Amino acid sequence: MNIRDENVLRELNLYPLWVRRDAPLPAEPAVGLKPDPQGAAGVCGLDLSPTQSERLARHVGLKPDPQGAAGVCGSDFSPTQSERLARHVGLKPDPQGAAGLVGQTSVRQVAGDWATLKQQVRDCTACALRAGCTQTVFGVGDEQADWLFVGEGPGADEDAQGEPFVGQAGKLLDAMLAAIKLKRGDNVYIANVVKCRPPANRTPAADEIATCLPYLQQQIALIKPKLIVALGKTAATALLGREATLGSLRGSLHAYNGIPLVVTYHPAYLLRSPAEKARAWQDLCLARTTLQQSTNGKE
Ligand code: URA
Repeated sequence: MNIRDENVLRELNLYPLWVRRDAPLPAEPAVGLKPDPQGAAGVCGLDLSPTQSERLARHVGLKPDPQGAAGVCGSDFSPTQSERLARHVGLKPDPQGAAGLVGQTSVRQVAGDWATLKQQVRDCTACALRAGCTQTVFGVGDEQADWLFVGEGPGADEDAQGEPFVGQAGKLLDAMLAAIKLKRGDNVYIANVVKCRPPANRTPAADEIATCLPYLQQQIALIKPKLIVALGKTAATALLGREATLGSLRGSLHAYNGIPLVVTYHPAYLLRSPAEKARAWQDLCLARTTLQQSTNGKE
């Protein structure tokens, strides 16, 4: 592990517990958590032994999971998750309604190339949010990226700079990307569900989301990502078209119009609840494995 890796894991509250499998293990008996029978083979360039996995779980306050979910890196999915992972290349859209939006009454049609779409967003006054923000925040990154990360909406920093995730949450998102060897702008695109900052950073209302969603849908149609990571409940709900708790959505594969979709915690939530970073790490590893498998390791 190099210094940069250590810094990333420190940022994610996962260091110094994460060590390579061939490193000597401190002798500490595992208490109360069952070892991962699969040996917790890591998929993100870092390997955890079962004991390390258990220790990490204890460290971050996770309870023993009957399905072995105390590990943190990809090897401890439930049978259903594993099956889904194995099948994901031919993943069907979420039967419960991918690509829709709960409660929406009308969806405006948005079409066109990047230039047209950017102009449409810049000129948009379709909901009240535009009147209260400094500028629209379209999205940033590689327009042909394999990876698409979707947040909720711009905050104060993003409103000022015109780019998604540039504040404290953005710093953590960058660390999360680095943890799975990704970099903003490099095969990664970052966008939000709504393009204008909601007043006082409130959650965007259902009608605001419904009004703005076609822009994101068209961004996705143009990017054609191989995998979408929904950051937080607003993004997950908007893209999957159904209401559910974040806890019930994370940890397994979904689909948006046939594109594999992984749900994880919003970085702003992780800043407030750092113990959940271990679960976010699991989600990122699921995302990484999914993409690696869908590209036969060529990603
Ligand atoms: N939170 C979001 O959901 N998006 C941003 O761009 C910044 C913070």
